[in-house]
Amino acid sequence: MRHFSVALWLVAGLFGVACTRGTLPPSQQASEVRVNVVSTSSIIGDWARQVGGDGVGVVDLIPPGVDPHSFQPGARDIVSVADADLVLFVGLNLEGQWLRETITNVEAKGASHLAVGPLVEPMLASSEEERAPRAEAVLDPHFWMDPVRAKLAVLAIAEELAKVDPGHGDEYRDNAVAYSKKLDDLHQWINAELQDVPLSDRILVTSHDSLGYFSERYGFRVVGAIIPGISTERDPSASEMADLVDAIRLNDAKAIFVEAAVDDRMARRISEETGVPVVDGLRVGTLGPVDSDIGTYDGMMRRNVEIIVKALR
Ligand SMILES: [Zn+2]
Repeated sequence: MRHFSVALWLVAGLFGVACTRGTLPPSQQASEVRVNVVSTSSIIGDWARQVGGDGVGVVDLIPPGVDPHSFQPGARDIVSVADADLVLFVGLNLEGQWLRETITNVEAKGASHLAVGPLVEPMLASSEEERAPRAEAVLDPHFWMDPVRAKLAVLAIAEELAKVDPGHGDEYRDNAVAYSKKLDDLHQWINAELQDVPLSDRILVTSHDSLGYFSERYGFRVVGAIIPGISTERDPSASEMADLVDAIRLNDAKAIFVEAAVDDRMARRISEETGVPVVDGLRVGTLGPVDSDIGTYDGMMRRNVEIIVKALR
């Protein structure tokens, strides 16, 4: 009987790890976790795990391969948020309207929350400016595609964890410094890989306008996007599609990069019309499954750069 229940517990534990990123075995949940963190984005969740170590349990709300712009939380997500000591999110309008209500509840119960995006020198969203110039500037939420900004985010997460759990503040800060060195390595590795792509060929066409930060950091030009905006929440108009075809021809783009979580039918139509191939597999909105090569921020960025370099060199 005893063996049976241990086996059952192990199976349940494995199942939990396979299905929910960041779920800890019951023993660890009860005794060792000091801080329960909920992150909307698995990318920010990965940073919180790197900085938090074993004493910080992290649950990500947006599952692998789900578009963060259209994600809606389920009942289980609401429970996770209710149990959280700290809620981390991107902000800059990445998350939907649901986040506002969530934050109100988090504040009401005295837990902490941190919008990471506004702390990392966010850029204006150029595609939004062109489409509908307005008095209020629209900021681009996809800051994590720049590893240098990622460092600012990681340090901010460490400081917030130190506020929630002051007894381990130095541990969080030390972890953040160690992980920042890893981000420096990533940035250097990306620069080295990109040496195979001449500046004149650093041209991107993407599913939506998600690579502004990456482009600015690494000398690319985004000449168009299938959905010409920083969200994926609308369909392109016929005239926008025609403009994109013109931009692809005029700039001699070599590839149309399609993101894993975004519908690729429009991209394939544009590809047929222009003869420019679709390149699959970019991941921008979420990490891959937790045990895959792209289950960490570092792994995701390296895979993205490999895909881009292979298509453009
Ligand atoms: Zn996006």
